[in-house]
Amino acid sequence: MSSLQAPPDALLQALLVHGGCAVCCYDAQNRITGWNALYTEFFPEVASWIRVGTTFEETLKAFLRLQHPASTPEQMVEATENGMSRHLNEQGPIQYQRADGRWLELRMFLLPEGGRFKLWRDISTQIAPGTDSELLHRLIAAVNVGITVHDADGSLRYVNTRFFSEHFLSLIRGVPAIERRVTQASYWKKFHEIFERDAEFEKLCLSEVEGPLHHPVTLQARSGRFYRIQEQWWEDELVSIWTDVTDVISRKRALQQAHSELSALNRQLVELSETDSLTGLANRRRFGVQLERAQQAVVEGAQAAVAIFDLDFFKAVNDRYGHDAGDVVLVEAAKMLQVHQGDDICVARLGGEEFGMVFRGMEVAKVLAVCEELRRAFSQGHFRIGAQRLRVTVSVGVAPLTEYRNQSVSLKKADDSLWKAKSAGRDCVMFELSWPHVRDGVDDLQVVTDIRADDEPLSPEALRDKYALPVNQHPVFTRPHWQEAVRRRETVDDYWGWVSYKIEARSQDQ
Ligand code: GH3
Ligand code: MG
Ligand code: MG
Repeated sequence: MSSLQAPPDALLQALLVHGGCAVCCYDAQNRITGWNALYTEFFPEVASWIRVGTTFEETLKAFLRLQHPASTPEQMVEATENGMSRHLNEQGPIQYQRADGRWLELRMFLLPEGGRFKLWRDISTQIAPGTDSELLHRLIAAVNVGITVHDADGSLRYVNTRFFSEHFLSLIRGVPAIERRVTQASYWKKFHEIFERDAEFEKLCLSEVEGPLHHPVTLQARSGRFYRIQEQWWEDELVSIWTDVTDVISRKRALQQAHSELSALNRQLVELSETDSLTGLANRRRFGVQLERAQQAVVEGAQAAVAIFDLDFFKAVNDRYGHDAGDVVLVEAAKMLQVHQGDDICVARLGGEEFGMVFRGMEVAKVLAVCEELRRAFSQGHFRIGAQRLRVTVSVGVAPLTEYRNQSVSLKKADDSLWKAKSAGRDCVMFELSWPHVRDGVDDLQVVTDIRADDEPLSPEALRDKYALPVNQHPVFTRPHWQEAVRRRETVDDYWGWVSYKIEARSQDQ
């Protein structure tokens, strides 16, 4: 500026009148110091506010009230701050279309003494109706995409302000000064009031790359809307295309939401279909899955076993105390069996008063110790049914999983062992006789009550006759125990009555 000679006033006047630009000048306090006739022609809405000394802010507010009559006071404050920021910073050239259809190009020049003046040129003729250019601008308005074009030096060449003002004007305090664009970081940081500071945006704000984004990005605006921004060089100019993809993202999110709800529901259904409703334990279906997993572990070299726990004389519990009381016992029994449940032990209710356990990756001695510990807990404990205390024992059959047979065969072997446990008088743990690698350790295992290879299925009566005697070999059959049980009102009448009769008969024989 300083190298130019100041033009004579007459020349200035001539330029103002005949230069073809609308001009308005402001001092350092943004008060109007002068304008030309074209200016009020260009902006007839605010013509009545144009006075020397009126501030830009006053004319802006008047303009905004006309443009957005339904705005809230807060929106007005934001739009005013935003307009002020543009007034101070936007140097142009910026092209934009006014509501009346005219295309104007704005340039702002700073004055050395602190003020500024702004020039508007009507460029509608360049974008004349019917020309490609006009068609293009109409198309741009119709497709509702934001476009900015910067030249190779980083100066703004084009922006369809209509899109940006429609999308952001009432939302943001300061429209970014996008006249200059150098590195991605320095450019995108200017949008910090527009976008959420999510990872995607933060990444842009750290990139020292110049030129267009390598990949399209989707950013979330603070308004809640989403914009996909795609950039490329186009004949030495950097074109940035903004598309409002909120609907797409919302649909995608709704789909994802529906999908995750459905998956959760599915998981719930699977969970339900694999859970026993009375005890909350795994049911036979999940037990099968766990058994298969354990079998797989065995094939891979681990040890594993399966056990079946069956409550003794449970029918008598139902008969004496009712089905509801029986249910209470089942629930409590399930809790007792669960104490060892974990990654390597799965407890399930297989049906009725029969429970299954899978021991994966556990050595035999440990399996038998766990089973015996549980058996003893039943034998030495009691269940409460109202005021009653009830003792229910459990019989246990155990079999190893081996790589030489299918897990269902092992399950059958556990069932055979259970049968033997019942035959042996109940309240004991039996394991498969053909368990080769157990045999050596068996002597040390107090847990194993007995091993009997009695495979003959016997009637309940025959079983009782065979195994209830001799009475002194089993705690529950001994007279003191019986008397104690009667005293504590813990017995299951039918059965214990029968045992009592047998014991009486025997003692009379002797
Ligand atoms: P054992 O010692 O030989 O196993 O005799 P037990 O009476 O326990 O066996 P049995 O198979 O004769 O009877 C099992 C009973 O379990 C019969 C049935 O009424 C009862 N039961 C099965 N499912 C349920 C249940 O969900 N709730 C209740 N309360 N009882 C059940
Ligand atoms: Mg039973
Ligand atoms: Mg049973």
